Amino acid sequence: MNFVYQANQQRVIFAAGARSRAGEELDRLGVSRAMIITTPSQADTAAAFARLVGERAGIVYPGAQMHTPTNVTEAALTAVSSVKADGILAIGGGSAIGLSKAIALRTDLPQLVIPTTFAGSEMTPILGEVERGVKKTQRSPKVLPETVIYDPELVARLPSHVAGPSAMNAMAHAIDALCAGNANPISSLLAEESIRALGRALPQLLADPNEAVWADALYGAWLAGTCLGTVEMGIHHKICHVLGGAFDLNHADIHCVMLPHTAAFNQNTTPDAIRRVARALDRDDAPSALYDLMLKVESQSSLQALGLTPAALEKAADLAMENPYDSPRRVTRDEILKILLAAYDGKRP
Ligand code: NAD
Repeated sequence: MNFVYQANQQRVIFAAGARSRAGEELDRLGVSRAMIITTPSQADTAAAFARLVGERAGIVYPGAQMHTPTNVTEAALTAVSSVKADGILAIGGGSAIGLSKAIALRTDLPQLVIPTTFAGSEMTPILGEVERGVKKTQRSPKVLPETVIYDPELVARLPSHVAGPSAMNAMAHAIDALCAGNANPISSLLAEESIRALGRALPQLLADPNEAVWADALYGAWLAGTCLGTVEMGIHHKICHVLGGAFDLNHADIHCVMLPHTAAFNQNTTPDAIRRVARALDRDDAPSALYDLMLKVESQSSLQALGLTPAALEKAADLAMENPYDSPRRVTRDEILKILLAAYDGKRP
Protein backbone atom coordinates (compact mmCIF):
# COMPACT_ATOMS: atom_id res chain seq x y z
CA MET A 1 0.00 0.00 0.00
CA ASN A 2 1.32 3.42 -0.94
CA PHE A 3 -0.77 6.61 -0.78
CA VAL A 4 -1.00 10.23 0.28
CA TYR A 5 -4.29 11.41 1.82
CA GLN A 6 -4.97 15.09 2.44
CA ALA A 7 -8.24 15.61 4.33
CA ASN A 8 -10.17 18.83 3.73
CA GLN A 9 -11.59 20.46 6.83
CA GLN A 10 -15.24 21.55 6.52
CA ARG A 11 -18.40 21.64 8.60
CA VAL A 12 -21.27 19.76 6.89
CA ILE A 13 -24.90 19.74 8.00
CA PHE A 14 -27.27 17.37 6.20
CA ALA A 15 -30.99 17.26 7.00
CA ALA A 16 -34.37 17.96 5.46
CA GLY A 17 -35.22 21.52 6.48
CA ALA A 18 -31.62 22.31 7.51
CA ARG A 19 -31.69 25.55 5.47
CA SER A 20 -33.47 27.13 8.45
CA ARG A 21 -30.10 27.02 10.26
CA ALA A 22 -28.45 29.44 7.80
CA GLY A 23 -28.57 32.39 10.23
CA GLU A 24 -26.94 30.54 13.12
CA GLU A 25 -24.27 29.12 10.79
CA LEU A 26 -23.45 32.64 9.55
CA ASP A 27 -23.10 33.69 13.20
CA ARG A 28 -20.75 30.79 13.78
CA LEU A 29 -18.57 32.06 10.94
CA GLY A 30 -18.72 35.60 12.36
CA VAL A 31 -20.55 36.93 9.29
CA SER A 32 -22.76 39.96 9.94
CA ARG A 33 -23.13 41.34 6.38
CA ALA A 34 -23.37 38.48 3.88
CA MET A 35 -23.28 38.73 0.13
CA ILE A 36 -26.05 36.32 -0.92
CA ILE A 37 -25.05 34.83 -4.25
CA THR A 38 -27.11 32.84 -6.72
CA THR A 39 -27.93 32.49 -10.44
CA PRO A 40 -30.60 34.73 -12.05
CA SER A 41 -33.29 32.02 -12.16
CA GLN A 42 -32.98 31.46 -8.38
CA ALA A 43 -33.23 35.15 -7.41
CA ASP A 44 -36.48 34.50 -5.51
CA THR A 45 -34.84 31.73 -3.49
CA ALA A 46 -31.96 34.06 -2.59
CA ALA A 47 -34.45 36.75 -1.56
CA ALA A 48 -36.20 34.20 0.69
CA PHE A 49 -32.82 33.43 2.31
CA ALA A 50 -32.23 37.17 2.82
CA ARG A 51 -35.50 37.32 4.76
CA LEU A 52 -34.50 34.19 6.69
CA VAL A 53 -31.12 35.54 7.83
CA GLY A 54 -32.53 39.03 8.49
CA GLU A 55 -30.00 41.71 9.39
CA ARG A 56 -27.09 39.41 8.46
CA ALA A 57 -28.02 39.94 4.76
CA GLY A 58 -25.82 42.57 3.12
CA ILE A 59 -26.82 42.29 -0.52
CA VAL A 60 -28.66 39.77 -2.72
CA TYR A 61 -26.55 39.15 -5.81
CA PRO A 62 -28.23 36.89 -8.40
CA GLY A 63 -25.49 37.42 -11.01
CA ALA A 64 -23.59 34.10 -11.08
CA GLN A 65 -23.00 32.44 -14.46
CA MET A 66 -21.98 28.97 -15.56
CA HIS A 67 -18.20 28.30 -15.94
CA THR A 68 -17.35 31.29 -13.66
CA PRO A 69 -16.28 33.91 -16.24
CA THR A 70 -13.67 36.22 -14.72
CA ASN A 71 -15.49 39.38 -15.87
CA VAL A 72 -18.54 38.28 -13.82
CA THR A 73 -16.29 37.81 -10.79
CA GLU A 74 -14.79 41.28 -11.24
CA ALA A 75 -18.26 42.86 -11.27
CA ALA A 76 -19.21 40.89 -8.14
CA LEU A 77 -16.07 42.07 -6.34
CA THR A 78 -17.24 45.66 -6.83
CA ALA A 79 -20.48 44.73 -5.07
CA VAL A 80 -18.50 43.07 -2.24
CA SER A 81 -16.63 46.29 -1.56
CA SER A 82 -19.61 48.58 -2.00
CA VAL A 83 -21.58 46.81 0.77
CA LYS A 84 -18.46 45.92 2.80
CA ALA A 85 -19.56 42.28 2.84
CA ASP A 86 -17.77 40.21 5.49
CA GLY A 87 -18.83 36.79 4.22
CA ILE A 88 -20.69 34.89 1.52
CA LEU A 89 -23.90 32.90 1.56
CA ALA A 90 -24.09 31.02 -1.76
CA ILE A 91 -27.29 29.21 -2.70
CA GLY A 92 -27.51 27.23 -5.90
CA GLY A 93 -25.64 24.88 -8.18
CA GLY A 94 -22.03 24.89 -9.27
CA SER A 95 -22.42 28.30 -10.93
CA ALA A 96 -23.40 30.13 -7.73
CA ILE A 97 -20.80 28.19 -5.76
CA GLY A 98 -18.15 28.91 -8.42
CA LEU A 99 -18.66 32.66 -8.05
CA SER A 100 -18.54 32.30 -4.26
CA LYS A 101 -15.23 30.41 -4.51
CA ALA A 102 -13.80 32.93 -7.00
CA ILE A 103 -14.57 35.77 -4.57
CA ALA A 104 -13.14 33.82 -1.62
CA LEU A 105 -9.93 33.22 -3.59
CA ARG A 106 -9.48 36.95 -4.02
CA THR A 107 -10.76 38.17 -0.63
CA ASP A 108 -10.48 35.25 1.85
CA LEU A 109 -14.10 35.87 2.91
CA PRO A 110 -15.70 32.92 4.73
CA GLN A 111 -18.33 30.96 2.80
CA LEU A 112 -21.57 29.28 3.86
CA VAL A 113 -22.81 27.26 0.89
CA ILE A 114 -26.25 25.72 0.39
CA PRO A 115 -26.21 23.52 -2.74
CA THR A 116 -29.36 23.08 -4.81
CA THR A 117 -27.95 20.75 -7.50
CA PHE A 118 -25.74 17.65 -7.37
CA ALA A 119 -22.65 19.37 -8.84
CA GLY A 120 -20.64 18.86 -5.63
CA SER A 121 -18.36 21.88 -6.10
CA GLU A 122 -18.91 22.86 -2.45
CA MET A 123 -16.71 19.94 -1.33
CA THR A 124 -13.68 20.57 -3.54
CA PRO A 125 -10.75 22.99 -3.24
CA ILE A 126 -10.99 23.31 -7.05
CA LEU A 127 -12.02 26.41 -8.99
CA GLY A 128 -12.50 26.50 -12.76
CA GLU A 129 -12.70 29.93 -14.37
CA VAL A 130 -13.24 30.95 -17.98
CA GLU A 131 -11.33 33.76 -19.62
CA ARG A 132 -11.49 34.36 -23.39
CA GLY A 133 -13.00 30.92 -24.07
CA VAL A 134 -10.45 28.92 -22.08
CA LYS A 135 -11.37 27.24 -18.81
CA LYS A 136 -8.47 27.19 -16.36
CA THR A 137 -8.66 25.13 -13.22
CA GLN A 138 -6.72 25.67 -10.03
CA ARG A 139 -6.63 24.20 -6.54
CA SER A 140 -6.44 26.28 -3.40
CA PRO A 141 -7.56 25.72 0.18
CA LYS A 142 -8.78 29.35 0.04
CA VAL A 143 -11.73 28.39 -2.18
CA LEU A 144 -12.98 25.55 0.03
CA PRO A 145 -16.24 26.64 1.73
CA GLU A 146 -16.02 26.60 5.54
CA THR A 147 -19.61 25.39 6.03
CA VAL A 148 -22.05 23.49 3.81
CA ILE A 149 -25.74 22.92 4.52
CA TYR A 150 -27.36 20.11 2.51
CA ASP A 151 -31.14 20.29 2.53
CA PRO A 152 -32.77 17.63 0.31
CA GLU A 153 -35.96 19.72 0.19
CA LEU A 154 -34.08 22.22 -2.01
CA VAL A 155 -33.16 19.70 -4.72
CA ALA A 156 -36.81 18.63 -4.83
CA ARG A 157 -37.43 21.83 -6.79
CA LEU A 158 -34.97 20.89 -9.54
CA PRO A 159 -36.58 20.34 -12.94
CA SER A 160 -35.79 16.81 -14.18
CA HIS A 161 -33.79 18.10 -17.20
CA VAL A 162 -31.39 19.67 -14.66
CA ALA A 163 -31.60 16.98 -11.95
CA GLY A 164 -30.67 14.00 -14.17
CA PRO A 165 -27.55 15.45 -15.86
CA SER A 166 -26.49 17.00 -12.56
CA ALA A 167 -26.62 13.59 -10.84
CA MET A 168 -24.54 12.19 -13.74
CA ASN A 169 -22.07 15.04 -13.17
CA ALA A 170 -21.74 13.80 -9.58
CA MET A 171 -21.30 10.23 -10.83
CA ALA A 172 -18.49 11.50 -13.09
CA HIS A 173 -16.70 12.98 -10.05
CA ALA A 174 -16.80 9.66 -8.25
CA ILE A 175 -15.62 7.72 -11.32
CA ASP A 176 -12.74 10.13 -12.01
CA ALA A 177 -11.79 9.81 -8.32
CA LEU A 178 -11.70 6.00 -8.58
CA CYS A 179 -9.55 6.21 -11.74
CA ALA A 180 -7.16 8.87 -10.39
CA GLY A 181 -3.47 8.04 -10.30
CA ASN A 182 -3.36 9.32 -6.71
CA ALA A 183 -6.59 7.62 -5.57
CA ASN A 184 -6.36 6.72 -1.89
CA PRO A 185 -8.29 4.18 0.20
CA ILE A 186 -10.67 6.84 1.57
CA SER A 187 -11.40 8.47 -1.80
CA SER A 188 -12.07 5.08 -3.39
CA LEU A 189 -14.40 3.94 -0.58
CA LEU A 190 -16.33 7.20 -0.80
CA ALA A 191 -16.43 7.01 -4.59
CA GLU A 192 -17.89 3.53 -4.65
CA GLU A 193 -20.52 4.39 -2.05
CA SER A 194 -21.34 7.55 -4.02
CA ILE A 195 -21.83 5.63 -7.29
CA ARG A 196 -24.02 3.12 -5.47
CA ALA A 197 -26.24 5.87 -4.00
CA LEU A 198 -26.46 7.82 -7.27
CA GLY A 199 -27.11 4.69 -9.36
CA ARG A 200 -29.90 3.70 -6.95
CA ALA A 201 -31.44 7.18 -6.88
CA LEU A 202 -31.16 8.20 -10.53
CA PRO A 203 -33.96 6.16 -12.17
CA GLN A 204 -36.44 7.15 -9.46
CA LEU A 205 -35.26 10.74 -9.43
CA LEU A 206 -36.56 11.05 -12.97
CA ALA A 207 -39.62 8.81 -12.68
CA ASP A 208 -41.26 9.19 -9.29
CA PRO A 209 -39.03 10.97 -6.75
CA ASN A 210 -39.74 11.25 -3.05
CA GLU A 211 -37.92 12.56 0.02
CA ALA A 212 -35.78 9.44 0.39
CA VAL A 213 -34.67 9.60 -3.26
CA TRP A 214 -33.74 13.30 -3.10
CA ALA A 215 -31.76 12.61 0.07
CA ASP A 216 -30.02 9.59 -1.50
CA ALA A 217 -28.99 11.58 -4.59
CA LEU A 218 -27.74 14.50 -2.51
CA TYR A 219 -25.84 12.10 -0.24
CA GLY A 220 -24.20 10.57 -3.33
CA ALA A 221 -23.34 14.04 -4.64
CA TRP A 222 -21.77 15.01 -1.31
CA LEU A 223 -19.58 11.89 -1.31
CA ALA A 224 -18.64 12.44 -4.96
CA GLY A 225 -17.47 16.00 -4.33
CA THR A 226 -15.65 14.87 -1.18
CA CYS A 227 -13.62 12.16 -2.90
CA LEU A 228 -12.82 14.30 -5.95
CA GLY A 229 -11.59 16.97 -3.55
CA THR A 230 -8.72 14.73 -2.38
CA VAL A 231 -7.39 13.49 -5.75
CA GLU A 232 -6.29 14.76 -9.17
CA MET A 233 -8.75 15.03 -12.01
CA GLY A 234 -8.31 12.89 -15.10
CA ILE A 235 -9.12 12.80 -18.78
CA HIS A 236 -12.91 12.87 -18.31
CA HIS A 237 -12.79 16.23 -16.52
CA LYS A 238 -10.17 17.60 -18.91
CA ILE A 239 -12.40 16.94 -21.93
CA CYS A 240 -15.54 18.32 -20.22
CA HIS A 241 -13.75 21.49 -19.12
CA VAL A 242 -12.34 22.09 -22.59
CA LEU A 243 -15.76 21.62 -24.23
CA GLY A 244 -17.57 23.76 -21.64
CA GLY A 245 -15.05 26.60 -21.82
CA ALA A 246 -14.52 26.70 -25.59
CA PHE A 247 -18.10 26.13 -26.77
CA ASP A 248 -20.12 27.42 -23.79
CA LEU A 249 -22.00 24.14 -23.45
CA ASN A 250 -23.98 23.18 -20.35
CA HIS A 251 -21.54 21.67 -17.83
CA ALA A 252 -23.74 18.81 -16.59
CA ASP A 253 -24.96 17.88 -20.08
CA ILE A 254 -21.39 17.46 -21.34
CA HIS A 255 -20.46 15.26 -18.35
CA CYS A 256 -23.50 13.12 -18.98
CA VAL A 257 -22.82 12.61 -22.71
CA MET A 258 -19.07 12.02 -22.25
CA LEU A 259 -19.18 9.67 -19.25
CA PRO A 260 -19.87 6.30 -20.99
CA HIS A 261 -17.09 7.02 -23.50
CA THR A 262 -14.44 8.15 -21.03
CA ALA A 263 -15.34 5.12 -18.86
CA ALA A 264 -14.78 2.89 -21.93
CA PHE A 265 -11.35 4.50 -22.37
CA ASN A 266 -10.54 4.11 -18.66
CA GLN A 267 -11.53 0.43 -18.85
CA ASN A 268 -8.15 -0.11 -20.55
CA THR A 269 -6.08 2.28 -18.43
CA THR A 270 -7.57 1.58 -14.96
CA PRO A 271 -9.49 -1.73 -15.27
CA ASP A 272 -9.77 -2.30 -11.50
CA ALA A 273 -11.37 1.12 -10.97
CA ILE A 274 -13.91 0.50 -13.73
CA ARG A 275 -14.68 -2.93 -12.25
CA ARG A 276 -15.52 -1.14 -8.98
CA VAL A 277 -17.86 1.18 -10.91
CA ALA A 278 -19.63 -1.87 -12.38
CA ARG A 279 -19.88 -3.46 -8.92
CA ALA A 280 -21.40 -0.29 -7.47
CA LEU A 281 -23.95 -0.14 -10.28
CA ASP A 282 -24.61 -3.89 -9.93
CA ARG A 283 -23.84 -4.50 -13.61
CA ASP A 284 -21.19 -6.49 -15.51
CA ASP A 285 -20.10 -3.70 -17.83
CA ALA A 286 -19.73 -0.15 -16.46
CA PRO A 287 -19.61 1.82 -19.77
CA SER A 288 -22.77 0.09 -20.94
CA ALA A 289 -24.50 0.70 -17.58
CA LEU A 290 -23.53 4.38 -17.76
CA TYR A 291 -24.80 4.56 -21.34
CA ASP A 292 -28.19 3.23 -20.18
CA LEU A 293 -28.31 5.86 -17.42
CA MET A 294 -27.29 8.57 -19.92
CA LEU A 295 -30.14 7.57 -22.28
CA LYS A 296 -32.60 7.79 -19.38
CA VAL A 297 -31.34 11.21 -18.34
CA GLU A 298 -30.37 13.10 -21.44
CA SER A 299 -32.50 14.17 -24.37
CA GLN A 300 -29.32 14.81 -26.39
CA SER A 301 -27.15 11.72 -26.28
CA SER A 302 -24.20 12.72 -28.49
CA LEU A 303 -21.85 15.65 -28.98
CA GLN A 304 -23.35 16.01 -32.46
CA ALA A 305 -26.80 16.49 -30.91
CA LEU A 306 -25.30 19.08 -28.53
CA GLY A 307 -24.35 21.07 -31.64
CA LEU A 308 -20.64 20.30 -32.04
CA THR A 309 -18.99 19.80 -35.44
CA PRO A 310 -16.02 17.59 -36.43
CA ALA A 311 -13.90 20.79 -36.66
CA ALA A 312 -14.87 21.61 -33.06
CA LEU A 313 -13.62 18.17 -31.98
CA GLU A 314 -10.22 18.85 -33.59
CA LYS A 315 -10.03 22.20 -31.74
CA ALA A 316 -11.04 20.51 -28.48
CA ALA A 317 -8.34 17.85 -28.92
CA ASP A 318 -5.75 20.60 -29.41
CA LEU A 319 -6.95 22.51 -26.34
CA ALA A 320 -6.95 19.36 -24.21
CA MET A 321 -3.23 18.90 -24.97
CA GLU A 322 -2.49 22.32 -23.43
CA ASN A 323 -2.15 22.20 -19.66
CA PRO A 324 -3.22 18.50 -19.47
CA TYR A 325 -4.63 16.82 -16.33
CA ASP A 326 -2.38 13.79 -16.36
CA SER A 327 -3.99 11.43 -13.90
CA PRO A 328 -3.45 8.48 -14.07
CA ARG A 329 -1.27 9.07 -17.16
CA ARG A 330 -0.71 11.54 -19.99
CA VAL A 331 -3.20 10.83 -22.81
CA THR A 332 -2.20 11.42 -26.45
CA ARG A 333 -4.04 13.74 -28.85
CA ASP A 334 -5.10 10.74 -30.97
CA GLU A 335 -6.61 9.04 -27.93
CA ILE A 336 -8.51 12.22 -26.98
CA LEU A 337 -9.84 12.62 -30.51
CA LYS A 338 -10.95 8.98 -30.51
CA ILE A 339 -12.92 9.50 -27.27
CA LEU A 340 -14.46 12.71 -28.69
CA LEU A 341 -15.45 10.97 -31.94
CA ALA A 342 -17.10 8.14 -30.01
CA ALA A 343 -19.13 10.69 -28.02
CA TYR A 344 -19.89 12.60 -31.24
CA ASP A 345 -21.42 9.45 -32.77
CA GLY A 346 -23.14 8.67 -29.48
CA LYS A 347 -23.23 4.90 -30.03
CA ARG A 348 -23.14 2.41 -27.13
CA PRO A 349 -19.45 1.96 -26.18
P1 NAD B 1 -25.94 25.67 -12.40
O1 NAD B 1 -25.44 26.04 -11.08
O2 NAD B 1 -25.71 26.65 -13.52
O3 NAD B 1 -27.48 25.32 -12.31
C1 NAD B 1 -28.18 24.97 -13.50
C2 NAD B 1 -29.50 25.76 -13.58
O4 NAD B 1 -30.39 25.24 -12.63
C3 NAD B 1 -29.33 27.26 -13.29
O5 NAD B 1 -30.19 27.99 -14.13
C4 NAD B 1 -29.81 27.36 -11.84
O6 NAD B 1 -30.32 28.63 -11.55
C5 NAD B 1 -30.88 26.30 -11.81
N1 NAD B 1 -31.10 25.69 -10.49
C6 NAD B 1 -30.15 25.29 -9.63
N2 NAD B 1 -30.73 24.72 -8.57
C7 NAD B 1 -32.05 24.75 -8.76
C8 NAD B 1 -33.17 24.29 -8.01
N3 NAD B 1 -33.02 23.62 -6.86
N4 NAD B 1 -34.40 24.52 -8.52
C9 NAD B 1 -34.57 25.11 -9.71
N5 NAD B 1 -33.55 25.56 -10.49
C10 NAD B 1 -32.30 25.38 -10.00
O7 NAD B 1 -25.31 24.27 -12.92
P2 NAD B 1 -24.49 23.14 -12.18
O8 NAD B 1 -24.46 22.03 -13.15
O9 NAD B 1 -24.98 22.88 -10.81
O10 NAD B 1 -23.03 23.75 -12.03
C11 NAD B 1 -22.20 23.94 -13.16
C12 NAD B 1 -21.03 24.82 -12.79
O11 NAD B 1 -20.37 24.29 -11.64
C13 NAD B 1 -19.96 24.89 -13.87
O12 NAD B 1 -19.46 26.20 -13.95
C14 NAD B 1 -18.89 23.93 -13.37
O13 NAD B 1 -17.62 24.23 -13.86
C15 NAD B 1 -18.99 24.09 -11.88
N6 NAD B 1 -18.55 22.92 -11.10
C16 NAD B 1 -17.40 23.06 -10.37
C17 NAD B 1 -16.96 22.00 -9.61
C18 NAD B 1 -15.72 22.16 -8.79
O14 NAD B 1 -15.37 21.27 -8.00
N7 NAD B 1 -15.02 23.26 -8.88
C19 NAD B 1 -17.68 20.79 -9.58
C20 NAD B 1 -18.83 20.69 -10.36
C21 NAD B 1 -19.28 21.77 -11.11
